[in-house]
Amino acid sequence: MIIQPDTLDWDRPGSTHVRLSFGLDGSWGSSLVPLTVINPSRPVPGNAPTVAVFGGTHGNEYESQVALTRLCTDLDPDELGGRVIIMPRLSEDACRHGTRAAVEDGVNMNRAFPGDPHGTLSYRIAHFVSTMIIPQAEVILDLHAGGRECAYALCTSLHPLPDQARFDRALELASLFATPYVFVYSRQLATGLLTDYAEDQGKLAIGGEFGGGETVSPTGVAHVYQGVINVLRHQGLLPGQPESILGRQPGTGRIVRADDLSDYVPAPCSGIWEPVVPLGNDVRSGDLLGRLYDVDHHPARFEPIRAHRDGVLIACYQRAVCETGRTLIVIGDPVPR
Ligand SMILES: [Zn+2]
Repeated sequence: MIIQPDTLDWDRPGSTHVRLSFGLDGSWGSSLVPLTVINPSRPVPGNAPTVAVFGGTHGNEYESQVALTRLCTDLDPDELGGRVIIMPRLSEDACRHGTRAAVEDGVNMNRAFPGDPHGTLSYRIAHFVSTMIIPQAEVILDLHAGGRECAYALCTSLHPLPDQARFDRALELASLFATPYVFVYSRQLATGLLTDYAEDQGKLAIGGEFGGGETVSPTGVAHVYQGVINVLRHQGLLPGQPESILGRQPGTGRIVRADDLSDYVPAPCSGIWEPVVPLGNDVRSGDLLGRLYDVDHHPARFEPIRAHRDGVLIACYQRAVCETGRTLIVIGDPVPR
């Protein structure tokens, strides 16, 4: 069913699957953005929180798109104790084109928040999320992958929060995805993120990086799919306890914290990037992490890239061809639980 965004009936019992019609900017037509809202089939006692889950915020990141698409129909409203909202392909235009940003307006959805009702396509979709979904949800999950930009050790992610009790609750939620790592990352890197805005509204907002290279990782899909179910169980929306995922228990992943901009090292020159250390490894200051080759010479010159400090290599550049200034490596501190 295709509807105008402001006509959605949020309270209808059971599963409602719609495509929201957002008018294109430069041509006659619409971006049809899928949304599923699932309410309990019949009134339930208690007040379980609303959980909102987003995938495809970047169009070339696929694990969340496929796992959430299945969850839209797999979640049974007869079992649910509260409302679940799923948008598996938030930047629908980018998803359709397999690009990070929407092709229609060139906007990266995860820099567009809180959006603008009079802005271009991506800003209008962001505004819909900011005004219609985030206010009614207590828990917000925005699930990513590395795309072409970055390779991550399989992780969920969250920001440092000044309120320790809130941080602990967010960390507990992030740990339910049973990823080998939980990445605590800097808010200073960029602005306009969906999770930034949700956090500023007092919500529990969790991200994650479940694959990369514009592929579909079966491991990443499993962590997204069961991780969301674990969150719903933990929040009392589904019966049962959180389960292990591919043999990993929730709450056992290593916490790696990189909340200083100096943890994010840009490429000092352009070249072919050869990483030599697996993601997630412990590194010591001075360790060789990779080489950047200047192939305009023969024999080719290369720049050795060394760890600037001790820590865990949580992310590095994804592609072989690397331009100067791109974030090349991210090293964080392991933090005890
Ligand atoms: Zn992303």
